[in-house]
Amino acid sequence: MLTYSLDIGGTRMKLALIQDGKILTERNVEAFRFGKYKDNLDIAEREGKAMMKELGVIRIDGLGIAFPGLVNPVKKVVTSANAKFVDAIGYDLTSWVKRAFDCPFILDNDSNAALIGEMTYGVAQDTEDAVMMIFGTGVGAAAVMGGRLVRGKHFQAACIGGHMVVEFGEHATPCNCGNIGCMEANGSSRALPELAQSDPLYPTSKLSRFAKLNYKILKECADAGDALAQKLMKRSLDAWSANLSNLVIAYDPEVIVLSGGVARMGEALRAPLQEHINKYTWTAWGNPEVRLAKNPDSSVVLGLHKLIVDEINGKAVF
Ligand SMILES: [Zn+2]
Repeated sequence: MLTYSLDIGGTRMKLALIQDGKILTERNVEAFRFGKYKDNLDIAEREGKAMMKELGVIRIDGLGIAFPGLVNPVKKVVTSANAKFVDAIGYDLTSWVKRAFDCPFILDNDSNAALIGEMTYGVAQDTEDAVMMIFGTGVGAAAVMGGRLVRGKHFQAACIGGHMVVEFGEHATPCNCGNIGCMEANGSSRALPELAQSDPLYPTSKLSRFAKLNYKILKECADAGDALAQKLMKRSLDAWSANLSNLVIAYDPEVIVLSGGVARMGEALRAPLQEHINKYTWTAWGNPEVRLAKNPDSSVVLGLHKLIVDEINGKAVF
């Protein structure tokens, strides 16, 4: 089955034509920033048709769209965008897909898709109980229990697990979701520049030389001995560890998958999180295994492929 996956993130979009679990061709293009969702769909339509032409394909069997926020996968509408792509809320994707590609489609949260991708084609094929932390602009989460995505009454369970509270009290860091003390506010690509700039060490730190901070730069500066970079890396790892512990308590997984850009840190990310789980988290049977995604850049598009194929085959479960 040949399907088209659209992973439209906060800063980049990954677009891929996938046949039977294999990516045939893909594009990684810059996304219009927040508030320009429809413009991104136009790009996805143009690029999708160009890729089909390259492959000599006239039609696709289905299409999957991932959204970095809350969606209703039954009605196939975006329900909340947390300052990202506000114009996507309630947008009539059904009409857009009908006009642009005229095929069945699914809409899901990007972290949900990523976990399904890793459980189908990646590092978590050996379990039916797994959680995901995926590091993009923010940090997403997802949980599968007994082979089924945890969704909740309003489809917001697990997938906004990057907003679990890891610090409390009046000095807790404000988050753009409205809460205080969220993990995402303490350790994410989105929060990093502000966390750095508000620190008294910033003017004398190497970090002040970079126009745009990210975890690659942070890690390099920390390894080179920069005090602020080391402090912020520790803060991020502490926040991620606490969040992961919360996910284990909530969803009782056997496997934890780390995906997205920051997962390229490899063992420097995985090992401290595994150590934290082993040392502190209450489990009755042993320790869930923390694994790096097999396809950190493609978990989402592969998961979308699996989800739309299931929908076409009448196997979709909500
Ligand atoms: Zn939050």
